[in-house]
Amino acid sequence: MSFILFRNANVYAPSPLGLKDVLVSHGRISEIADTIVLEASFEVEIIDVEGHILCPGFVDTLTHVTGGGGEGGFATRTPEMNLSHAIAGGVTTVTGALGTDAVCRSHEELVAKVKGLKEEGLSAYFYTGNYHYPVKTLTGSVQKDIMLIDECIGIGEIAIADHRGSQLTWRELASVAAEARVGGMCAKKAGIVSVHVGPGDERLDRLFEVAEKSDIPLKQFYPTHINRSELLLEQGVKFNQLGGYIDFTASSTPDILASGEVKCAHALKQAIAAGADENRITFSTDGHASLPNFNSKGELVSLKVGAMTSMHAEFKDAVQIEQIKLETALKVVTQNPAKVLQLTSKGQIIKGADADILILNNNSLAIESVLAKGQWLMKQTIAVRKGTYE
Ligand code: ZN
Repeated sequence: MSFILFRNANVYAPSPLGLKDVLVSHGRISEIADTIVLEASFEVEIIDVEGHILCPGFVDTLTHVTGGGGEGGFATRTPEMNLSHAIAGGVTTVTGALGTDAVCRSHEELVAKVKGLKEEGLSAYFYTGNYHYPVKTLTGSVQKDIMLIDECIGIGEIAIADHRGSQLTWRELASVAAEARVGGMCAKKAGIVSVHVGPGDERLDRLFEVAEKSDIPLKQFYPTHINRSELLLEQGVKFNQLGGYIDFTASSTPDILASGEVKCAHALKQAIAAGADENRITFSTDGHASLPNFNSKGELVSLKVGAMTSMHAEFKDAVQIEQIKLETALKVVTQNPAKVLQLTSKGQIIKGADADILILNNNSLAIESVLAKGQWLMKQTIAVRKGTYE
């Protein structure tokens, strides 16, 4: 049905709006009011969601939709993401990226997967490039990819401070960022540079160096895995205070946490307490990435796969364990990531936005329903759509 009316919803836009009726028509949010009165001739699906939170669908800025990594040999190449994984995690917008391996995984495959996910109902984008430099692209240039391919929104994850990266100089990094910046400007896109920050001691030094020695502003870079360690988190707060966005990775393993990673929800609490601007912090799933744990000698100790449900789990923990306000925790998984990617119709419950909507249990914050561009993906805890071969 083209029209859906949610009655008595406790709306978080992500800021709290109180009890409202929300009308969805033809894939968009068309009205938000205390009471919406319908004309008699109107054929509309009416859902009373009293006792439930209505909030934006989650926006994930890093998803290895075709799988990632494989640092333990070919048998450890992680599997691709399917629609059901995103639905279970309340993710309605994904941003695909390659990662460590751009030999056995290609941008052609990435674009095909992104287009397939769009056909299945999600909003999907991707970053050109991967960990390495010189940058691999589809058309031969970062700027061309961003300008001429609709779904290409920036470049990443380009790796710094990592034994798996290309050990870039500040000039190399600045020239990549300049290409992305110009591509973004000409195509009216984010042109963002997603930066994978590894466990190396350089941490964010290279980014500060670019901002200091070149004309590229700090906010062109969007570093992820900032909760990797206490020291990196500290530097991330500084980066944030200078105007940049920082991203915390929700997927983790007990092994990785034991080796010093700060749990995503706790990192949010810590960063805000240290004076970071909560409007420039995001969570991403790092879904379907490999999650390798290396020891101090750089040897692989264990390997797991990133989960699409991790962002929702960390959002919940942020509220229920870390006692962070619901609207703040919600912002880092909806409005903030949409802003980084400059997706103006995403991440908010406002008139005219895409109808990407989650219905959460008021108490447990469990995901009960998922609507993407006005189409049901999950209804009252039952997934009503599946990927083509699921
Ligand atoms: Zn990464």
